[in-house]
Amino acid sequence: MSIKKVSCFNCKRDAFYFRKYSGEYLCKECFKKSIITKTRRTISKYKMIRYGDRVGVAVSGGKDSLSLLQVLSKLAKEHSNELYAITVDEGIANYREESISFVKEFTDNLRVPLKIVSYEDLYGFSLDEAMKERKIKLTSCTFCGVLRRRALDLAAKELKVNVLCTAHNLDDIIQSFMINLLVGEMDRIKWVDPRLEPKSEFAIRRVKPFMELYEEEISLYAYLNNIPFQSIPCPYSGEGIRGEIRRFLNSLEAKHAGAKYGILKTALKMAQNLNVEGRKQIKFCVLCGNLSSSSICQVCKMLGLVNLSPILP
Ligand code: SF4
Ligand code: ZN
Ligand code: ZN
Repeated sequence: MSIKKVSCFNCKRDAFYFRKYSGEYLCKECFKKSIITKTRRTISKYKMIRYGDRVGVAVSGGKDSLSLLQVLSKLAKEHSNELYAITVDEGIANYREESISFVKEFTDNLRVPLKIVSYEDLYGFSLDEAMKERKIKLTSCTFCGVLRRRALDLAAKELKVNVLCTAHNLDDIIQSFMINLLVGEMDRIKWVDPRLEPKSEFAIRRVKPFMELYEEEISLYAYLNNIPFQSIPCPYSGEGIRGEIRRFLNSLEAKHAGAKYGILKTALKMAQNLNVEGRKQIKFCVLCGNLSSSSICQVCKMLGLVNLSPILP
């Protein structure tokens, strides 16, 4: 029995990929171009990167952030943007070494300057040490995420970048949305809004140019462009509810193509409605002097939860 070949919707070459949620058949080249086009469209729709911006890109060394850096390096010329890569070394033994070596090689090839900041230098301990010394049952990713945000901010300020791009994709965003729904964190839902401007003139604008792309399509883009894949997952990544939500959303999408995109649309609408109250009054942490929404910032609260003598960043 012969299998009928399907042609690419754009160029009539043999199709290689079926984009189930849109019904398009694409060849390899058109698929790769579609990822760049979709990213460009997201950036322009939400004015994420503006003409002449100095752009920082948070690069962990995973497929998503390396793909983002590659796509942005192609788009940077269009708007005269200078690009800088920032990598955070949390201090996770037998894991972070591999991704940092990928990042060094990748940024060298793209000729993008790289800045590496470590928890050890900023806070005086590695994530591994902190996790051994946690006073209460503290979820590693919650702790790590708060410390990483501060580390990126400090590096971005040092590089004088005015916008910081992270590689969060559609899957990451809707997983966080579902987690916030489950725990009743309404305030955090508005962070989904890509139009959100920084809370103060001292804060750096953060944007997510991959926010409308499915994770599996970024993986495919990385594969087709020979972008290196990290062979081992973070040893702490199994903790928390995110894994269960990820599996649930994947099975939903497999049965109902486009379901994830529908959730993103709902999250965006909710975020934009929640955002109408405008800017909150800006405060500075009484312990470290950094911007904060309360008198003690999240980082100082987290540092108080480990039996170590941290440095205040
Ligand atoms: Fe940090 Fe969690 Fe990411 Fe590991 S998976 S690097 S602990 S945020
Ligand atoms: Zn094609
Ligand atoms: Zn503080």
